[in-house]
Amino acid sequence: MTAPGATVRARGVGVAVDGHRILDGVDVDVRPGELLALVGPNGAGKSTLLGVLSGDTVPTTGTVELGGRELRRHAARDLARVRGVQLQQQGLAFGFRVEDVVRMGRSPWHRTPAEDDDERVVAEAMERADVAALGQRHFPTLSGGEQARTSFARLLAQATPVLMLDEPTAALDIRHQEALLDVLRRTVRAGAAAVVVLHDLSLAAAYADRVCVLADGRVRADGPPAEVLTGALLSEVYGHPVDVVEHAGHLLVVPVRTPSPLQEVL
Ligand code: ADP
Ligand code: MG
Repeated sequence: MTAPGATVRARGVGVAVDGHRILDGVDVDVRPGELLALVGPNGAGKSTLLGVLSGDTVPTTGTVELGGRELRRHAARDLARVRGVQLQQQGLAFGFRVEDVVRMGRSPWHRTPAEDDDERVVAEAMERADVAALGQRHFPTLSGGEQARTSFARLLAQATPVLMLDEPTAALDIRHQEALLDVLRRTVRAGAAAVVVLHDLSLAAAYADRVCVLADGRVRADGPPAEVLTGALLSEVYGHPVDVVEHAGHLLVVPVRTPSPLQEVL
């Protein structure tokens, strides 16, 4: 499944809107065999960066290469066979059933030999995202979490060697959060490259091979979770005191809380 050289390499990426710098001098690599978690406060520029890495947003400055070739030199259809994107907001997809939405992931493979695998790939993707039981439901009638899982199934059905996901776990319950990241980790172990925007820093600590912290449009840290996810750095970046503790072999990132007025009374 994975074409060699499917590294995404951003260098000196800047995005300015109305003279306001949303991203500034961002260098980041998304490499085959690696799950990269992109974290940072609201408005840090995570979604914008994902848009730049996917080729949906053209940066004001800097370059993005995919497999050693500049993104803008890839034809749209070729790009869709190499990188798949799960956006933060899923479209409403009026009139479509879950199975139709997942099958849309196969459209880049239309009229290629891979088309022969469509039924099997779609069924597998629905199993892995746990939406097999929802196949005949109309997409707009699903819960937020069910919609997110359907979008994830669609991304898996696209079967690209590079996966980009913007807050895919935001609406998911704890079981489906773990399941999604487990599926992603297996995909990455099989040779894919993945970049995932996450707000849950404990999830990032548990599943990411590398964590990139974005703040005010700049890369604040980039490295293995244990090096990057420190109380000092996170407290500063998020503007709230944060503790990092070890639990059952994993790092947990927890906010420091002052006693509530109710607790003080008791
Ligand atoms: P994140 O995903 O980290 O929360 P975004 O990348 O969505 O952040 O946005 C970064 C900042 O840029 C935010 O302050 C947002 O309001 C602003 N921004 C993003 N896109 C636009 C746009 N098209 N026009 C104006 N401001 C934008
Ligand atoms: Mg965002």
